[in-house]
Amino acid sequence: MTANGGTLRQVRGAIRRAQGVMILTGAGVSADSGISTFRDFGGLWDRYRPEELATPQAFQRDPKVVWEWYDSRRRTVLSCRPNRGHKAIAQFLLSREDVTLATQNVDGLHQRAFEEATDSLVMAPTPLDRDFDRTLELHGSILRTRCSVCEMSQQEYESIDTSDVDALPHCLDCGAMMRPDVVWFGESLDGSVLELALEAARVAEVCIVVGTSAVVQPAASIPLATQESGGIMIEVNPEHTPLTSLSQWSLQGSSTEVLPQILGL
Ligand code: NAD
Ligand code: ZN
Repeated sequence: MTANGGTLRQVRGAIRRAQGVMILTGAGVSADSGISTFRDFGGLWDRYRPEELATPQAFQRDPKVVWEWYDSRRRTVLSCRPNRGHKAIAQFLLSREDVTLATQNVDGLHQRAFEEATDSLVMAPTPLDRDFDRTLELHGSILRTRCSVCEMSQQEYESIDTSDVDALPHCLDCGAMMRPDVVWFGESLDGSVLELALEAARVAEVCIVVGTSAVVQPAASIPLATQESGGIMIEVNPEHTPLTSLSQWSLQGSSTEVLPQILGL
């Protein structure tokens, strides 16, 4: 259903009345910030072959090339700004205590929007020492590094020196190579982060699914947890996805236009 005024009012009312709201976002929520989605035309898949770079094997084989690729993505992300969709979600999170956000994105833009909204200088929390657990980065963040051997992880906003293998970041604790703190092909999601997302989805009466092709598992099953517990799904995406026909409302538009209208306070 294309979003018209009446529909938007209904959706806004349903969200306002819901006890518990889960929001699941994907690459589309960052598209209007200038970050390519993976599967859309012109996406990262077209220019690179991530299955050759975003794997533990690739990192073992050639960490310099993997870090060069990630450093270029990090520079792109750091040159982009949170858009009106990220900002609407951040304000919504701040306005209610029963809202949980889970993102598949690794660009840190939700965190930055949240920090801007709270006017806070506090760095984004890592999954291990987060001081709030309502923003869940299911696939990690390219603005964090973590040790390839021990548990050490840290925020990293500076650009990575990729001039030589020895210049690449190394762990201050054990000396092993640091890697981007993201989930690579063939790796599992952090079980505790996924469980928090599934639990929040189960208790939510509404799950808003934004800008995801809903084909990457297990993230794509999170909205189903809401539905299986008797809640409803609302989708925001210009295209159809496997979740479109399961959604109570499918708002076919860009997240930058639609989210401020349905989450607006
Ligand atoms: P995807 O590329 O598979 O799908 C993007 C979806 O966003 C599509 O359904 C598309 O129709 C929709 N979309 C495009 N523009 C939109 C807009 N303006 N508003 C709303 N929706 C819009 O992305 P995915 O489902 O997130 O899965 C891809 C995987 O790639 C994820 O695992 C994610 O970690 C990773 N990824 C992350 C980023 C990022 O961090 N920004 C970017 C690319 C890929
Ligand atoms: Zn270490």
